[in-house]
Amino acid sequence: MKRREFILSSIMTLGASTLLTSGCTKKEIKKSDNQILRIKFKDIDIPILGFGCMRLPMRNGKIDIIEMEKMVEHAMAHGANYFDTAYMYVKSQSEIAIGKILKKYPRKSFFLADKCPAYLVNSKEDVQKLFKEQLKKCQVDYFDFYMVHNINKNSISNYRNNDMYEELLKLKKEGKIKYLGFSFHGDTKMLKEVINEHVWDFCQLQINYLDWEITNAKELYEIADKAKVPIIVMEPLRGGGLCKLPDKAINILKENCPNDTPASFGLRWLSAQNKSRIFLILSGMSNTQQMKENLDTFVNYREFTKEEENISSDIVKIIQQQGEINCTACKYCLEVCPRGINIPAIFNIYNNYKGNKENSFFKMYYNSLNDSEKAENCIKCGLCNKNCPQGLDIPTLLTKVEDTYKNIKGK
Ligand code: SF4
Ligand code: SF4
Repeated sequence: MKRREFILSSIMTLGASTLLTSGCTKKEIKKSDNQILRIKFKDIDIPILGFGCMRLPMRNGKIDIIEMEKMVEHAMAHGANYFDTAYMYVKSQSEIAIGKILKKYPRKSFFLADKCPAYLVNSKEDVQKLFKEQLKKCQVDYFDFYMVHNINKNSISNYRNNDMYEELLKLKKEGKIKYLGFSFHGDTKMLKEVINEHVWDFCQLQINYLDWEITNAKELYEIADKAKVPIIVMEPLRGGGLCKLPDKAINILKENCPNDTPASFGLRWLSAQNKSRIFLILSGMSNTQQMKENLDTFVNYREFTKEEENISSDIVKIIQQQGEINCTACKYCLEVCPRGINIPAIFNIYNNYKGNKENSFFKMYYNSLNDSEKAENCIKCGLCNKNCPQGLDIPTLLTKVEDTYKNIKGK
């Protein structure tokens, strides 16, 4: 049986209950044994899970290429052939690493996504210059997906004043970009404007079950859906925050969804029928184990049910009671902090403390940071705030963590 016939027969045997749609056309799920679910997007079919190269495996302060190679091999073997990088990821080393690894595979066997850093663009020429540099770093001559990176209240003027869309459209017409989109961290008004200003192939939004209820993710989804712009999801597990649920939430999950881990529950939530405009979920995986678990969710796919929606709402309530800091550990703030404060690590330590109230662990982990990385060295310059896609007031939160540290008892 030819591959296409095999895929089609697999679709038939899956039955209507597993058919999803990317919001572009109907009946677009493709699934074969031991392979990840694929969804039709325009004229291609694409795996539902993409490898986000932002939180790569690290060893001695450098990207662990051997582990990363294993991850790419594992992904490719299961049909997960979408890789997402960006200029600034992993101190500008992510593009080089993924380019080096993907060089071993035929160019047409994978999809590569990259992004133009709006914050570095001060002229039209910068767009072209950065694009050329990115092609070189990734060792490719075109990008399948390419985005204006991180449109938000600080970067939107760079995007507009330097005609970024028009410049990228030229590259698309030359065949160097197959699909043109943007990633977004602004408010609903801004999303409506950006979507209506131009014709986009897709957009990339932060959506997960926590943001759906506590921030504007639901509204952002609805705007893109109404405009019929297909959606790629970023931060599906909120930078790993939804993998480390409070004990109470874990118990709810165990009771109601015994076959789920926190990660699989969060990923399946995004594939529910009421979010059919989503065609790809990006996960920033840091080791092979995480990748196996995430792939397994969509290799052995179970549809998310309406009843399970109630469970996610219960979990959200529990998380909200913890009073955690909404940091997704994207590390964008680290790029600009003149004092080298380890902001995501500090917030992670604090959030773990809020989840379990273990004073000794809080002290132990906080003390394990280098002195120069600690909150007390912050000079309140506010540069980090401009880069934070979550809109956190970082210096104020650092003071809060520092005060908590000083006030809790124990070693
Ligand atoms: S406000 Fe503090 S944490 Fe933020 S960039 Fe300045 S020194 Fe770094
Ligand atoms: S504080 Fe903001 S910019 Fe820094 S890692 Fe967290 S979410 Fe990212």
